[in-house]
Amino acid sequence: MVLVYAESPDGQLKKGSFEVVTYGAKTAAVLGSECAALTLGSVDNAGQLGQYGASKVYNIADDSLNQFDSQVHAAAIAAAARELGAKVVIVSTSSTGKSLLGRLAVKLNAGSVAGVKTIPTNDGGVFKVKKNVFSGKAIAEYAVTSDVKVLSLTSNSIPVEKSGGDVEVSSLSVDLPARRVTVKEVKLQEGSRAPLPEAELVVSAGRGMKGPENWGMIEEPADVIGATTACSRPVADSEWRPHHEHVGQTGVAIRPNLYIAIGISGAIQHLAGVNSSKTIVVINKDPEAPFFKAADYGVCADLFDVVPRLTEAMKKFKSEQ
Ligand SMILES: Cc1cc2nc3c(=O)[nH]c(=O)nc-3n(C[C@H](O)[C@H](O)[C@H](O)COP(=O)(O)OP(=O)(O)OC[C@H]3O[C@@H](n4cnc5c(N)ncnc54)[C@H](O)[C@@H]3O)c2cc1C
Repeated sequence: MVLVYAESPDGQLKKGSFEVVTYGAKTAAVLGSECAALTLGSVDNAGQLGQYGASKVYNIADDSLNQFDSQVHAAAIAAAARELGAKVVIVSTSSTGKSLLGRLAVKLNAGSVAGVKTIPTNDGGVFKVKKNVFSGKAIAEYAVTSDVKVLSLTSNSIPVEKSGGDVEVSSLSVDLPARRVTVKEVKLQEGSRAPLPEAELVVSAGRGMKGPENWGMIEEPADVIGATTACSRPVADSEWRPHHEHVGQTGVAIRPNLYIAIGISGAIQHLAGVNSSKTIVVINKDPEAPFFKAADYGVCADLFDVVPRLTEAMKKFKSEQ
C-alpha cells in the first residue's frame, strides 16, 4: 500500500494535500497497489480525498494531533504505516513535510528521497524516482532499495487531478507519545498571502526598485492577481523587504506557475531558486541583463513606466472576467 499524509492545518485540507494524494494514486498505479490517505486530528470533509485517487481515507482523531508537533505527528504516521503495512509513505515538501521526512525514515527504517518531482518507475521491480539537484541544473535518479520507502513531493510539481468520488473515512487508533511542545500562538505574516514554496503566482522585485518606498508598485499587481511577493537577496539584506521573501540559492526555492521578475538582474544565485518556475516574465531596462536568457517573456523597458501600466491592464482583464 502507498500511504499519503494529507496535511490539514486548522482542520482544512490544503491544495498541497490534493497534490500529494494525486501523486500517491499514480505511484500506487505504477506499483499495482492502492493508495490510502491519512489525516490527523479533526479534519473537515476528509472523505473528499477519494476524489483525488485515495481508495481509503484513515483518520487518527486524537486531540493532541490538532496542533502540529513533528515528533508526535511522525509517530502517528509511522504507527499508521506499520499498522496498514504501507510500503511507500509520501508527504509534501511543505515545512511540515520537511520536518517529518527524516523522522519517518528513521522510524520505518526506510530509504528516503526528499523533493521528488516525477512519478516513480518500477521497471524490473526496481523502484526509481527523480529529483532536481545542483539548484535545478541537473536531475538525479534514485533507486530506493529498502523494503519501506519514504518520499516528499516538491510542491507544485504535478497537477492536481480528480479521478474518483468521496470515500468513507475510517478511524485508526495508535499509541502516541506525550507532546513535548505546545504552540502558544500562531501569527500570520501581514497580508497572509500563500507561503512562497506553495505559491502558484509570484511577483518579485530587485534592486532596480531603488528603495523600499516603491514597493507599493509590487504589492498592487500581486494583490490584483492574488500572487505572493518575493525579492532578490540584496533587497532583503538592505532590509527593504523581510528575509522570508528572499528567493534564490540562499533563500527560498520556488516553482510557481508564473514568476514575474521586476528590476532583477538574474544572477546565477537568484536563478538557482526560481528557474523551475513554469513561466518567467522579466522586466528590466538593460537588454544585456542575464535574466532575459531564462525568460519566457521579456519586457526591456523602465519598470517605473511598465509596471503601473501592467497593473492597470491586469485590473481591466480581471474586471472583464
Ligand atoms: C554565495 C552567494 C549567494 C547568493 N544567493 C542569492 C540568492 O539566494 N538570491 C539572490 O537574489 N541573490 C543571491 N546572491 C546575490 C546575487 O549574486 C546578485 O548579487 C543579486 O541577485 C542581485 O540582485 P538584484 O538583481 O536585485 O540587483 P542588481 O544586480 O543590482 O540588479 C538590478 C537590476 O535592475 C535593473 N534595473 C535598474 N533600474 C531599472 C529600471 N528603472 N527599470 C527596469 N530595470 C531596472 C538593472 O538593469 C539590473 O539588472 C548571492 C550571492 C552570493 C555570492
